[in-house]
Amino acid sequence: MNLLETMATFGHEKVVFVSNPKAGLKAIIGIHSTALGPALGGCRLWDYASEEDALFDVLRLSRGMSHKNAAAGLALGGGKCVVFGKVEDKTEAMFEALGEAVESLGGQYITAEDVNTDTNDAIYMKRTTQYICGLPDVSGDPSPMTARGVMQGIRATAKVALGADSLDGLTFAIQGLGKVGYDVAQRLTKEGAKLYVADLRQDVVDRAVAEMGATAVPVDQILSQECDILAPCALGAIVNPKNIPNFHCKAIAGAANNLIYDDAAGEALKARGIAYAPDFIINGGGVINAGGEALGNYNEEEVIKKVDNIYNTIGNILEESRSTGVPEGVIATNYAENIIRNGGMK
Ligand code: NAD
Repeated sequence: MNLLETMATFGHEKVVFVSNPKAGLKAIIGIHSTALGPALGGCRLWDYASEEDALFDVLRLSRGMSHKNAAAGLALGGGKCVVFGKVEDKTEAMFEALGEAVESLGGQYITAEDVNTDTNDAIYMKRTTQYICGLPDVSGDPSPMTARGVMQGIRATAKVALGADSLDGLTFAIQGLGKVGYDVAQRLTKEGAKLYVADLRQDVVDRAVAEMGATAVPVDQILSQECDILAPCALGAIVNPKNIPNFHCKAIAGAANNLIYDDAAGEALKARGIAYAPDFIINGGGVINAGGEALGNYNEEEVIKKVDNIYNTIGNILEESRSTGVPEGVIATNYAENIIRNGGMK
């Protein structure tokens, strides 16, 4: 990869390579944009096959954070950190060293937990940097706010794509009953929806069947389950050329990140007439929650107001997509980039 050229194309401000052999740390911090404020984004631990893969990931993810934070109405830019390694090899020293690297950026980048990192790692980083959020004693677990926002996005999707004012009687297929998926399933059940569910973990599926009267579906069939709304709450890139012909839903609205494999997949989904609630907007509740902490002014009432506004944002994007024929993901990206260009949400 020609790094500087790629940075210019993606619009990145800074990429920082971190090496601390004594602490067993190899990491890359990508700062995409600080136009709206400090670049916020979590720290992902992954056993990357190559440095090139890690670099590509951090560039892609940090740009995604700029879009997510802007669309969430936060005075925050976008960044991300990737750490090379396996979960079983994590050490306190590694995260203390990473904290030092984050601290050295003087607040340009604020970190948090992400895939394969948890509140313990955040506590280790907190020993060496003040630029961290998602600590257990402040904003806490973001999942309930993420689920709340996903529900708002689902309501907007039901309204625009299905003409439904209520979720009562609608059918949902939920892939993944983890922290967000299970919570969404419970909220949907309370509103009278009928659920089909799948997870790699049999215990959570059994619980959903027992507690919510959900119908269990094999993991390899959940994406093709006939339903009103498919709610992916596990994996990314499920909207891909292999799956698109097999969807039997009217809309897709769920928590998982990076759902659309590429631009062509977004076009193909649109051509099939399946509405799509853009992932980085519908799942913004978690970052809205952490954002208050990152900015040092966490206020639950304000957080809830912003999370509930996901209803309007998703509704507007779906309406625009319907009237223009432009895929929802493209409209969402343009929406976020406009906010950044205008210096924030007006
Ligand atoms: P989680 O790890 O708690 O849950 C994921 C669940 O998906 C697990 O129960 C896992 O067994 C299941 N799963 C994995 N592969 C599967 C498969 N092939 N078929 C069926 N089930 C499968 O994660 P989470 O925090 O609930 O997050 C879910 C998704 O939402 C992720 O994509 C995450 O990036 C995204 N997200 C989460 C948050 C948050 O606040 N937690 C915020 C924004 C986005």
